[in-house]
Amino acid sequence: MYTSQQSYEANNIFKQDWVLASNNKGKLAEFKRLFTDANLNVTIIPQGQLDIEDAIEDGLSFVENAIIKARHASRISELPAIADDSGLCVPALGNAPGIYSARYAGEHGNDANNNAKLIADLQPIRAQNRTNNTDIPIKGMFVCVLAMVRHADDPLPVIAQGLWQGEILEQVHGDGGFGYDPLFWLADLQASAASLSADDKNNISHRGQAIRQLLQQLQA
Ligand code: IMP
Repeated sequence: MYTSQQSYEANNIFKQDWVLASNNKGKLAEFKRLFTDANLNVTIIPQGQLDIEDAIEDGLSFVENAIIKARHASRISELPAIADDSGLCVPALGNAPGIYSARYAGEHGNDANNNAKLIADLQPIRAQNRTNNTDIPIKGMFVCVLAMVRHADDPLPVIAQGLWQGEILEQVHGDGGFGYDPLFWLADLQASAASLSADDKNNISHRGQAIRQLLQQLQA
């Protein structure tokens, strides 16, 4: 049991456990690895371990939702909290699925259905491009916004953002990663995000970039 005394004690947030405001297994695995690599003296507790349910994400942007999630986890746990709001933006679709990435096809976290919907939604655009003899790749961008609050009402959340540019494939490729990784093609590496090793993905991904940026801010 955590007391509010513990959570507001000392300015040194590195002496406390932090709650990670996510129950997404793919994200949790990447976070664990990235924080271990950073050698931070912090234990990250996934909110599920404290029986904290997901917050209602009713913001209109990644940053709003990240702050909502972090405050929610911090309020319930009385600990510092960090949240990741992330997703895939496809400019040809008006930046959809965007903040709705996890529930693009309806059911929250159904990666296979989300990928199928993305392939289907891009089909008319690809067909049109082919008709026009402009078979250009369809661009996409993974976005990760992190918000860290030292306590639930923290007026100065620490915010970091990572962007990862790629192309959207017509069919899935690779069997690692999670979410839209099998549809995210990296032309320079000739690989999908789902075929990268965990370390290689973290080195270049939106989440890796955002975590490194957040840590720099916290350690400054
Ligand atoms: P959130 O939990 O509301 O932030 O939604 C995140 C969703 O974005 C995930 O369920 C995935 O669909 C997608 N997403 C975020 N990061 C990644 C990634 O690194 N790879 C693949 N899909 C991702």
